Amino acid sequence: MFENITTLSYESPCSQPGGGGPLTYDFDRSEFWRAIPIWRDIDAETFGDFRWQQRNSVTTVHRIKEALSELASSALISDIEDGLLKTPMNIRLTPYIFSRIHWENFENDPVRRQFLPLGSQFVPDHPYVMDDSLAEDGHKATPYLTHRYPDKALFLPITHCPVYCSFCTRSRVVGGSTAVKSKSTYGAKSKEWDSTFEYIRNHPNLEDIVISGGDALLLRPNQIREIGTTLLQIPSVRRIRFATKGLAIMPMKFTSDIEWVEALDDVCRLGREHMKEVALHTHFNTDREITAWTSKAMKVLSETGVRVRNQSVLISGVNDAFDCLHYTTKKLSSQLIQPYYIYLHDMVPGCEHLRTTVSKAEHLSHRLQGSIAGFNTPRMVCDAPGGGGKREISSYILYDHEIGVSAWTSPTAKPCEIFYYYDPIGKLPKEGRDLWANNSEIKRRLIKFRANAEAKAEASRT
Ligand code: SF4
Repeated sequence: MFENITTLSYESPCSQPGGGGPLTYDFDRSEFWRAIPIWRDIDAETFGDFRWQQRNSVTTVHRIKEALSELASSALISDIEDGLLKTPMNIRLTPYIFSRIHWENFENDPVRRQFLPLGSQFVPDHPYVMDDSLAEDGHKATPYLTHRYPDKALFLPITHCPVYCSFCTRSRVVGGSTAVKSKSTYGAKSKEWDSTFEYIRNHPNLEDIVISGGDALLLRPNQIREIGTTLLQIPSVRRIRFATKGLAIMPMKFTSDIEWVEALDDVCRLGREHMKEVALHTHFNTDREITAWTSKAMKVLSETGVRVRNQSVLISGVNDAFDCLHYTTKKLSSQLIQPYYIYLHDMVPGCEHLRTTVSKAEHLSHRLQGSIAGFNTPRMVCDAPGGGGKREISSYILYDHEIGVSAWTSPTAKPCEIFYYYDPIGKLPKEGRDLWANNSEIKRRLIKFRANAEAKAEASRT
């Protein structure tokens, strides 16, 4: 079924050197899902139907057992059960992403690590994690709109997703309650969006609208059309972006849901007529998520003219190595997906084992620069906790490596504030870990650090 896809040579991705010869890209075109016992007899046509993917998504431990059969040891199952007692995110995996996991090495598998929590891998949260680390809720302009910056706003019409990621920054609202987190999630209710459109109309400084959630993939075609056309017809709105993880976890949506693609196509056509940008922002974290199905989906999407960009999250044990980031970036670029941001992991609960340090992110960013064409080099950023916005990873004003605290300012958007990011304690040098274990010592050190940061910020303002 993939005969139209350019044949590319197959090589092991992460063994590729960063600087040297030409890279070749490995697009899995095998029927890889047949390695999962329950889908052994599923043909490509069935697997390629988004309805089948949605119907057969894995949402319970019982279903994991059923799907894996003899591949699931009792140790694995009880480790997942234990993980579910600790995580703020429920589990939901499409068959596509479930079968990208190499189950023989599930403990270290970078795909499993993103979606299925193992109790044995959890570590206690950092004392400074925040449910709403990006301060979105405090900037609600309507029940569905966050307005934090003068010219941009975030429209959240839905809080459901086709998969649930263990590292989700909106774990406080996305994906239903868990053993440790109760939340109010909501589906897309177009009847309730008028006040949001009205607010945008009444704020002509708003040029960029992000439509996220949740995942825009779960909006119905008429909702994609309604949101897209309404926003594009507001004179001051110049650009709209639909945020979806769909390409990475259910690429067959774009090849088998013709109505959804037609709706996007209509929105893109209107965007061209008005000279406005319509973009789709997606979310790949590793090259394993990019297969021949992705290429097929991108072929369809490129015909709509939608601009596709990728945002990754830097996740420990998933993509925090140069070779993987470099190869994933190059492979995405080969499919007309522009690598755009790599975020330092937000400081949200239940993710301490998945976070990395600012210094590691800086090191990776330095290595990436110059290894890829500038327009395809993703910007490594810290989305400064408390609403400081995306800051270049080396732009902190102060960083204490030992206790893993960095201070950030946002001179244009929030000139009077300082924002602090805290590295995961488990990844600090021993001296830093010891300090965090000593309450009065760490308090003293933090007071000193903040005073120094304030002095630096003050000096830069004058
Ligand atoms: S797809 Fe996005 S919004 Fe949904 S769970 Fe994953 S990170 Fe969160």
